Amino acid sequence: MDLATLWYLTTGTLLVAAAMTLWERKAQAQRSRELGLWAAAYGVFVVGCVLSMNRAHFPGVSGPAISNVVMILGYLLVLQGALALDGREMRPAPIAGLLAAIGAAWFAAGTGAVSLFWNHVSAFPIAVICALTAMTLWRSRTVRKLRSRPVAVAVFVCHSLFYAARTFIVPIVTAIHGDAVLPVVAEITMYEAVLFSVAMAMSLLALVREEDRARLLATTRTDFLTELHNRQGFFELAPKRLSQAGETASHSLLAIDLDHFKAINDRYGHEAGDSVLKLFAGVARDIAGPEAMSARLGGEEFAILLPNRTVAEARTVAEDVAGHFAEAAAQGDGLAIPATVSIGIAAASGQEADLVALLAAADRALYQAKMAGRNRIEVAKSALVADAA
Ligand code: GH3
Ligand code: MG
Ligand code: MG
Repeated sequence: MDLATLWYLTTGTLLVAAAMTLWERKAQAQRSRELGLWAAAYGVFVVGCVLSMNRAHFPGVSGPAISNVVMILGYLLVLQGALALDGREMRPAPIAGLLAAIGAAWFAAGTGAVSLFWNHVSAFPIAVICALTAMTLWRSRTVRKLRSRPVAVAVFVCHSLFYAARTFIVPIVTAIHGDAVLPVVAEITMYEAVLFSVAMAMSLLALVREEDRARLLATTRTDFLTELHNRQGFFELAPKRLSQAGETASHSLLAIDLDHFKAINDRYGHEAGDSVLKLFAGVARDIAGPEAMSARLGGEEFAILLPNRTVAEARTVAEDVAGHFAEAAAQGDGLAIPATVSIGIAAASGQEADLVALLAAADRALYQAKMAGRNRIEVAKSALVADAA
């Protein structure tokens, strides 16, 4: 394979990667810094490639030295973009210091060591920076749950290992077989560069796109007003929550409806009604705790799923929620609106915990509470039986 062809190919794929990343950046405002840094990195790599191809035309060690420093700047920009995913960054001063040190090392080594530096030493910082990039992506909280994360990590781990091999293993191979292997190493290096430039850009774009998709999905599952799960989120996520909880445990569900809410709207206005809904959501979230799953099923109807909670425990939660809400609505945040809730409770053991049936039972209990005069808590009959058994 012709080495020059591989250089041109790498330059071309990097230009395409930069263009595609910049295009994506227009659509992904929340990741514009990361995508901008990565596009800049690919641009810097292109400059590094052009310099590398023409390094012989520069006096002394300056050609390879400048090419190497530019390439390392590219890798640092990729790392900077990965750090930015979690709002972290490297300061410019240490970056400039590192690049200056690498440049100085080239000139200190002098023309006699150009081959040694170009083939082995210069690969070491690249191996380290790519290992750091892989580690950053691996540890990133932002991309932790994404399917494309292990792919991106693998791309940087492979590149890091490849450059570590160039630093530490190729010198041994050349010591045994002589400099004749170096052109082969150069070809393999450029072949790998083609693959890496494609894989890096694709995997980083995949991360950003998948994150965006996950954000959209979360939006479709979230109620805009209260930021609780909406009906869709509840029915999609609650079964998973139940299956994660113990098989034999008892699970409880509260069905909650604000009392005379239409009258609140009529008397205080729709905006005040919205504030009451938000207030209730906050109380529900705080009191039910992180184990529970609170949702706004519609209008002024809410549900709180309590995995691993008995009816007795659920009743305590219901009493706390009702009490705190009434108190907060009457006094808190300048609302001064008398508001109460009615709550129905149902429970089922792990094996028979069917969400639809559980909600239907809780709803029936809620209806009982409404019939009995509102501002009450009722427990579904079947739940009482199950609890007593
Ligand atoms: P009950 O005690 O029997 O539950 O009476 P209610 O008035 O609470 O029940 P009803 O179903 O008659 O009325 C519910 C009201 O909730 C009607 C609707 O205008 C209001 N509502 C639904 N969604 C919203 C919302 O997002 N914001 C506000 N402010 N009001 C809402
Ligand atoms: Mg109501
Ligand atoms: Mg209602």
